[in-house]
Amino acid sequence: MTGDGREVFAALDIGGTKIAAALVDADGTVQWRGRAATPRTGGDGVVAAAARLLAEAGDAPVRALGVGAPGVIDQETGRVVSATEVLPGWAGTPVRDALAERTGLPVAVVNDVRAMAYGEARDGAGAGHHRVLHVSVGTGVGGALTTGGRLEHGAHGTAGEIAHLLVPERGPVPCGCGRRDHLEAVVSGPAIEAAGDAPHAGSVLGRALAGLLAVLDPDAVVIGGGVAQIGAPFLDAVTAAFRAEALPPLRATPIVPARLGTDAPLVGAARLAMTLRPQGGTR
Ligand SMILES: [Zn+2]
Repeated sequence: MTGDGREVFAALDIGGTKIAAALVDADGTVQWRGRAATPRTGGDGVVAAAARLLAEAGDAPVRALGVGAPGVIDQETGRVVSATEVLPGWAGTPVRDALAERTGLPVAVVNDVRAMAYGEARDGAGAGHHRVLHVSVGTGVGGALTTGGRLEHGAHGTAGEIAHLLVPERGPVPCGCGRRDHLEAVVSGPAIEAAGDAPHAGSVLGRALAGLLAVLDPDAVVIGGGVAQIGAPFLDAVTAAFRAEALPPLRATPIVPARLGTDAPLVGAARLAMTLRPQGGTR
Protein backbone atom coordinates (compact mmCIF):
# COMPACT_ATOMS: atom_id res chain seq x y z
CA MET A 1 0.00 0.00 0.00
CA THR A 2 1.49 3.29 -1.01
CA GLY A 3 -0.93 5.58 0.81
CA ASP A 4 0.19 8.47 -1.38
CA GLY A 5 -3.36 9.36 -2.34
CA ARG A 6 -2.81 8.65 -6.04
CA GLU A 7 -3.99 5.07 -6.11
CA VAL A 8 -7.49 4.36 -7.35
CA PHE A 9 -9.95 1.50 -7.07
CA ALA A 10 -11.97 0.05 -9.94
CA ALA A 11 -15.65 -0.74 -9.64
CA LEU A 12 -18.19 -2.62 -11.73
CA ASP A 13 -21.98 -2.57 -11.47
CA ILE A 14 -23.27 -5.47 -13.55
CA GLY A 15 -26.95 -5.31 -14.47
CA GLY A 16 -29.38 -7.06 -16.77
CA THR A 17 -29.12 -4.48 -19.54
CA LYS A 18 -25.90 -2.57 -18.90
CA ILE A 19 -22.54 -2.80 -17.17
CA ALA A 20 -21.29 0.39 -15.49
CA ALA A 21 -17.66 0.86 -14.52
CA ALA A 22 -15.81 3.50 -12.55
CA LEU A 23 -12.46 4.44 -11.07
CA VAL A 24 -12.87 5.77 -7.54
CA ASP A 25 -10.21 7.40 -5.37
CA ALA A 26 -9.60 6.65 -1.70
CA ASP A 27 -11.97 9.48 -0.70
CA GLY A 28 -14.87 7.79 -2.52
CA THR A 29 -14.84 10.31 -5.39
CA VAL A 30 -15.59 8.94 -8.86
CA GLN A 31 -12.74 9.82 -11.25
CA TRP A 32 -13.88 8.00 -14.41
CA ARG A 33 -17.06 6.34 -15.62
CA GLY A 34 -17.76 3.91 -18.44
CA ARG A 35 -20.66 1.81 -19.58
CA ALA A 36 -21.44 -0.99 -22.01
CA ALA A 37 -24.43 -3.12 -22.94
CA THR A 38 -24.65 -6.43 -21.08
CA PRO A 39 -24.20 -9.26 -23.60
CA ARG A 40 -26.84 -12.02 -23.54
CA THR A 41 -24.21 -14.70 -24.02
CA GLY A 42 -23.97 -16.20 -20.53
CA GLY A 43 -21.69 -15.57 -17.57
CA ASP A 44 -18.36 -15.88 -19.43
CA GLY A 45 -19.48 -13.33 -22.01
CA VAL A 46 -20.57 -10.88 -19.31
CA VAL A 47 -17.26 -11.19 -17.46
CA ALA A 48 -15.31 -10.68 -20.70
CA ALA A 49 -17.34 -7.57 -21.57
CA ALA A 50 -16.81 -6.17 -18.06
CA ALA A 51 -13.04 -6.67 -18.31
CA ARG A 52 -12.97 -4.97 -21.75
CA LEU A 53 -14.90 -2.01 -20.31
CA LEU A 54 -12.40 -1.64 -17.46
CA ALA A 55 -9.52 -1.67 -19.94
CA GLU A 56 -10.97 1.54 -21.44
CA ALA A 57 -9.99 3.34 -18.22
CA GLY A 58 -6.37 3.32 -19.39
CA ASP A 59 -3.31 2.73 -17.24
CA ALA A 60 -4.33 4.35 -13.94
CA PRO A 61 -2.63 2.83 -10.84
CA VAL A 62 -5.57 0.58 -9.88
CA ARG A 63 -5.06 -1.32 -6.63
CA ALA A 64 -8.14 -3.55 -6.49
CA LEU A 65 -11.53 -4.18 -8.10
CA GLY A 66 -14.95 -4.30 -6.42
CA VAL A 67 -17.98 -5.74 -8.19
CA GLY A 68 -21.72 -5.41 -7.54
CA ALA A 69 -23.61 -8.14 -9.36
CA PRO A 70 -27.13 -9.58 -9.41
CA GLY A 71 -27.99 -12.76 -7.55
CA VAL A 72 -26.84 -14.44 -4.37
CA ILE A 73 -23.04 -14.27 -4.16
CA ASP A 74 -21.00 -16.74 -2.10
CA GLN A 75 -18.82 -14.49 0.09
CA GLU A 76 -16.12 -17.16 0.39
CA THR A 77 -15.66 -17.84 -3.31
CA GLY A 78 -17.13 -14.84 -5.16
CA ARG A 79 -19.25 -17.22 -7.24
CA VAL A 80 -22.91 -16.65 -8.15
CA VAL A 81 -24.90 -19.17 -6.11
CA SER A 82 -28.26 -18.40 -7.69
CA ALA A 83 -29.79 -15.75 -9.92
CA THR A 84 -33.02 -14.97 -11.69
CA GLU A 85 -33.24 -14.92 -15.49
CA VAL A 86 -32.48 -11.19 -15.53
CA LEU A 87 -29.07 -12.41 -16.70
CA PRO A 88 -29.30 -15.72 -18.60
CA GLY A 89 -26.60 -18.19 -17.58
CA TRP A 90 -25.41 -16.05 -14.68
CA ALA A 91 -25.88 -18.63 -11.88
CA GLY A 92 -22.66 -20.55 -11.28
CA THR A 93 -20.39 -17.88 -12.80
CA PRO A 94 -17.09 -17.65 -10.85
CA VAL A 95 -17.13 -13.84 -11.01
CA ARG A 96 -14.27 -13.18 -8.59
CA ASP A 97 -11.80 -15.66 -10.03
CA ALA A 98 -12.68 -14.93 -13.65
CA LEU A 99 -12.21 -11.17 -13.22
CA ALA A 100 -9.04 -11.64 -11.15
CA GLU A 101 -7.60 -13.73 -13.98
CA ARG A 102 -8.55 -11.20 -16.66
CA THR A 103 -7.46 -8.05 -14.77
CA GLY A 104 -4.63 -9.27 -12.51
CA LEU A 105 -6.30 -7.41 -9.62
CA PRO A 106 -7.57 -8.58 -6.23
CA VAL A 107 -11.37 -8.74 -6.62
CA ALA A 108 -14.29 -8.49 -4.17
CA VAL A 109 -17.81 -9.42 -5.35
CA VAL A 110 -21.06 -8.62 -3.60
CA ASN A 111 -24.75 -8.57 -4.49
CA ASP A 112 -25.68 -5.35 -6.31
CA VAL A 113 -28.18 -4.16 -3.69
CA ARG A 114 -25.53 -4.63 -1.03
CA ALA A 115 -23.04 -2.65 -3.11
CA MET A 116 -25.60 0.18 -3.40
CA ALA A 117 -26.33 0.03 0.33
CA TYR A 118 -22.65 0.10 1.20
CA GLY A 119 -21.99 3.11 -1.04
CA GLU A 120 -24.84 5.07 0.54
CA ALA A 121 -23.81 4.03 4.07
CA ARG A 122 -20.18 5.06 3.59
CA ASP A 123 -20.35 8.08 1.28
CA GLY A 124 -24.03 8.96 0.76
CA ALA A 125 -27.15 9.48 2.83
CA GLY A 126 -25.93 7.21 5.66
CA ALA A 127 -22.48 8.75 6.05
CA GLY A 128 -21.64 9.55 9.65
CA HIS A 129 -24.10 7.01 11.07
CA HIS A 130 -22.76 3.90 12.83
CA ARG A 131 -25.51 1.46 11.90
CA VAL A 132 -27.48 1.97 8.69
CA LEU A 133 -30.41 -0.08 7.36
CA HIS A 134 -30.67 0.38 3.61
CA VAL A 135 -34.00 -0.32 1.93
CA SER A 136 -34.10 -0.52 -1.86
CA VAL A 137 -37.49 -0.33 -3.57
CA GLY A 138 -37.46 -0.84 -7.32
CA THR A 139 -38.37 -3.75 -9.56
CA GLY A 140 -37.94 -5.77 -6.40
CA VAL A 141 -37.41 -4.94 -2.75
CA GLY A 142 -34.02 -5.41 -1.10
CA GLY A 143 -32.13 -4.37 1.96
CA ALA A 144 -28.77 -4.46 3.66
CA LEU A 145 -27.28 -3.56 7.00
CA THR A 146 -23.99 -1.73 7.50
CA THR A 147 -22.50 -1.51 10.99
CA GLY A 148 -19.32 0.38 11.84
CA GLY A 149 -18.39 0.67 8.18
CA ARG A 150 -18.81 -3.05 7.46
CA LEU A 151 -21.56 -4.78 5.50
CA GLU A 152 -23.24 -7.46 7.56
CA HIS A 153 -23.88 -10.68 5.65
CA GLY A 154 -25.26 -12.94 8.37
CA ALA A 155 -24.94 -16.71 8.59
CA HIS A 156 -26.68 -17.32 5.25
CA GLY A 157 -26.07 -14.05 3.42
CA THR A 158 -29.53 -12.60 4.05
CA ALA A 159 -28.86 -10.07 6.84
CA GLY A 160 -30.89 -6.92 6.14
CA GLU A 161 -32.94 -8.59 3.40
CA ILE A 162 -36.46 -7.27 3.91
CA ALA A 163 -38.33 -8.53 0.80
CA HIS A 164 -39.79 -11.59 2.51
CA LEU A 165 -41.22 -9.96 5.64
CA LEU A 166 -44.78 -11.15 6.16
CA VAL A 167 -47.37 -8.39 5.75
CA PRO A 168 -51.12 -8.54 6.55
CA GLU A 169 -52.21 -7.80 2.96
CA ARG A 170 -51.85 -9.68 -0.30
CA GLY A 171 -50.03 -7.87 -3.09
CA PRO A 172 -50.94 -7.72 -6.78
CA VAL A 173 -47.55 -8.98 -8.02
CA PRO A 174 -45.92 -12.06 -6.40
CA CYS A 175 -42.74 -11.68 -4.38
CA GLY A 176 -39.63 -13.05 -6.09
CA CYS A 177 -40.12 -16.18 -3.96
CA GLY A 178 -43.67 -16.63 -5.27
CA ARG A 179 -45.69 -15.52 -2.25
CA ARG A 180 -48.17 -12.65 -2.19
CA ASP A 181 -48.13 -11.94 1.56
CA HIS A 182 -44.51 -10.75 1.54
CA LEU A 183 -43.46 -7.10 1.63
CA GLU A 184 -42.14 -7.20 -1.94
CA ALA A 185 -45.55 -8.29 -3.28
CA VAL A 186 -47.09 -5.05 -1.97
CA VAL A 187 -44.29 -2.48 -2.11
CA SER A 188 -42.22 -3.24 -5.28
CA GLY A 189 -42.44 -0.85 -8.25
CA PRO A 190 -44.55 -3.26 -10.32
CA ALA A 191 -46.87 -3.88 -7.34
CA ILE A 192 -47.36 -0.13 -6.80
CA GLU A 193 -48.03 0.31 -10.51
CA ALA A 194 -50.59 -2.50 -10.51
CA ALA A 195 -52.39 -1.23 -7.40
CA GLY A 196 -52.06 2.46 -8.32
CA ASP A 197 -51.64 3.55 -4.70
CA ALA A 198 -48.13 4.67 -3.76
CA PRO A 199 -49.17 6.17 -0.39
CA HIS A 200 -50.75 2.86 0.71
CA ALA A 201 -47.57 0.98 -0.28
CA GLY A 202 -45.54 3.55 1.64
CA SER A 203 -47.69 2.96 4.74
CA VAL A 204 -47.15 -0.80 4.49
CA LEU A 205 -43.39 -0.26 4.31
CA GLY A 206 -43.50 2.22 7.21
CA ARG A 207 -45.34 -0.24 9.46
CA ALA A 208 -42.87 -3.00 8.53
CA LEU A 209 -40.01 -0.65 9.42
CA ALA A 210 -41.58 0.04 12.82
CA GLY A 211 -41.24 -3.63 13.70
CA LEU A 212 -37.87 -4.05 12.05
CA LEU A 213 -36.31 -1.10 13.82
CA ALA A 214 -37.32 -2.51 17.18
CA VAL A 215 -35.15 -5.52 16.28
CA LEU A 216 -32.27 -3.84 14.50
CA ASP A 217 -32.22 -0.36 16.10
CA PRO A 218 -30.14 1.37 13.39
CA ASP A 219 -29.01 5.01 13.62
CA ALA A 220 -30.62 5.76 10.25
CA VAL A 221 -32.67 4.20 7.46
CA VAL A 222 -31.78 5.04 3.85
CA ILE A 223 -34.43 4.46 1.19
CA GLY A 224 -33.23 4.11 -2.40
CA GLY A 225 -34.21 2.44 -5.66
CA GLY A 226 -36.49 3.60 -8.46
CA VAL A 227 -39.66 3.86 -6.34
CA ALA A 228 -37.95 6.27 -3.92
CA GLN A 229 -37.90 8.69 -6.87
CA ILE A 230 -41.70 8.91 -6.62
CA GLY A 231 -40.67 11.23 -3.82
CA ALA A 232 -43.00 12.79 -1.28
CA PRO A 233 -46.21 10.73 -1.84
CA PHE A 234 -44.30 7.55 -1.07
CA LEU A 235 -41.63 8.70 1.40
CA ASP A 236 -44.03 10.83 3.47
CA ALA A 237 -46.35 7.84 3.83
CA VAL A 238 -43.42 5.65 4.92
CA THR A 239 -42.37 8.16 7.57
CA ALA A 240 -45.92 8.85 8.84
CA ALA A 241 -46.75 5.15 9.23
CA PHE A 242 -43.39 4.48 10.86
CA ARG A 243 -43.76 7.28 13.41
CA ALA A 244 -47.33 6.18 14.23
CA GLU A 245 -46.32 2.57 14.91
CA ALA A 246 -42.74 2.64 16.22
CA LEU A 247 -41.81 2.35 19.87
CA PRO A 248 -41.34 5.86 21.35
CA PRO A 249 -37.51 5.77 21.61
CA LEU A 250 -37.28 4.82 17.91
CA ARG A 251 -39.63 7.43 16.44
CA ALA A 252 -36.95 10.03 15.79
CA THR A 253 -34.77 7.63 13.79
CA PRO A 254 -33.95 9.47 10.54
CA ILE A 255 -35.52 7.95 7.40
CA VAL A 256 -33.73 9.60 4.51
CA PRO A 257 -33.69 9.25 0.72
CA ALA A 258 -30.57 7.88 -0.95
CA ARG A 259 -28.45 10.56 -2.56
CA LEU A 260 -25.75 8.93 -4.71
CA GLY A 261 -28.12 7.77 -7.46
CA THR A 262 -26.56 5.39 -9.97
CA ASP A 263 -23.09 6.01 -8.48
CA ALA A 264 -24.07 4.24 -5.24
CA PRO A 265 -23.25 0.65 -6.31
CA LEU A 266 -20.02 1.80 -7.94
CA VAL A 267 -18.84 3.72 -4.87
CA GLY A 268 -19.90 0.80 -2.64
CA ALA A 269 -18.05 -1.73 -4.79
CA ALA A 270 -14.94 0.46 -4.75
CA ARG A 271 -15.18 0.78 -0.96
CA LEU A 272 -15.26 -3.01 -0.74
CA ALA A 273 -12.18 -3.17 -2.95
CA MET A 274 -10.44 -0.87 -0.45
CA THR A 275 -10.90 -3.56 2.22
CA LEU A 276 -8.86 -6.10 0.21
CA ARG A 277 -5.23 -6.67 1.01
CA PRO A 278 -2.82 -5.81 -1.80
CA GLN A 279 -1.47 -8.83 -3.68
CA GLY A 280 2.13 -9.80 -3.06
CA GLY A 281 4.89 -9.07 -5.54
CA THR A 282 5.55 -6.00 -7.63
CA ARG A 283 3.49 -4.22 -10.21
ZN1 LIG B 1 -40.85 -13.54 -0.59
